[in-house]
Amino acid sequence: MSPSDKFATLAVHAGEHTDVHGSVIEPISLSTTFKQSSPANPIGVYEYSRSQNPNRDNLENAIAALEKAQYGLAFSSGSAATSVIMQSLPQGSHAVSIGDVYGGTHRYFTKVANTHGVETTFTNNLLEELPNLVKDNTRLVWIESPTNPTLKVTDIQAVSNAIKKINKDILLVVDNTFLSPYLSNPLTFGADIVVHSATKYINGHSDVVLGVLATNSKDIYERLQFLQNAIGAIPSPFDAWLTHRGLKTLHLRVKQASVTAQKIAEFLSASKHVEAVNYPGLKTHPNHAVVQRQHRDALGGGMISFRVKGGAAAAAKFSSTTRLFTLAESLGGIESLLEVPAVMTHGGIPKESREASGVYDNLIRLSVGIEDTEDLLEDIKQALEAAAEN
Ligand SMILES: *Cc1c(COP(=O)(O)O)cnc(C)c1O
Repeated sequence: MSPSDKFATLAVHAGEHTDVHGSVIEPISLSTTFKQSSPANPIGVYEYSRSQNPNRDNLENAIAALEKAQYGLAFSSGSAATSVIMQSLPQGSHAVSIGDVYGGTHRYFTKVANTHGVETTFTNNLLEELPNLVKDNTRLVWIESPTNPTLKVTDIQAVSNAIKKINKDILLVVDNTFLSPYLSNPLTFGADIVVHSATKYINGHSDVVLGVLATNSKDIYERLQFLQNAIGAIPSPFDAWLTHRGLKTLHLRVKQASVTAQKIAEFLSASKHVEAVNYPGLKTHPNHAVVQRQHRDALGGGMISFRVKGGAAAAAKFSSTTRLFTLAESLGGIESLLEVPAVMTHGGIPKESREASGVYDNLIRLSVGIEDTEDLLEDIKQALEAAAEN
């Protein structure tokens, strides 16, 4: 690929690899082992498929290109990518994380990493509190932007500057799942590692669970690649191939979802049946100035959350009345989904701490898909009317 190639060109072509037949689309390489000509002399670059596989290589190269990174790595899930990053920290390390981090990440920090001697402190005001929270053994800061499900946006460059002022060796990790590399590239704002649940936008078709990360540091890459092989939480060749196929249309999908989401968010903001709307694309979003710097074309992405009038009952009515938005967890696929975080994805969090981060009983989260904009808007309208009459 040429260094001047733009996103859409990279999405379609990065990571492509010509085989002996000249296949335009790479075949799926299922072989677990590869022939050697003499002991310890593989005939190609591959030896054993846990360590390296052609389809995983292609996907990793494509991810690196889209995240403006030197290196990419793929894992069996976003959670596996998270666990490998945390397992790279020495015993006795300390991490700082934003408070409303993805539930599974919170669970890993508080129920797994701590049992291996890595403690995490959570904060809802990272920029302000960082200098007080960093200790001698702090090795990593973890952020997610926008957050789930209240879509708070963090100024990544500001966090990076604040960290490097304290200690240049502290790594900044950004979970970029909600935006995808099309809307934002955290490494260009000073992050050391960007991580994704590719299960969401990158694969984008709700048929693969997979995780990726990218970095520009050779040292970080080599450490994490060592763990990728040693721990073995790798994606299958088929899943790597499917995800690579999915990401070829990432730019089209995310652009379309953002355009529709903007219209829905504006409609919801003007509706008398709605108490509040969280959407980074709205000029009224508290961090819209950061969105303008940090997101491509200030696009808000495909995720919206809003509070419907009428409490939990109205939220339940709304979410079981939509025709096109399917009531289901997860996000980032071609199809529109919705959920009620208080009783679904965030049901395990005690009411008080849930509400402290804005997850009220009447909050509804939308993952806007790529169906027709007018049809989706109509669906939201009729479900709102039904919820209001409830
Ligand atoms: C889904 C998700 C994860 C976890 O990814 P899996 O692929 O489900 O393991 C991590 N972070 C965010 C923001 C997510 O939405």
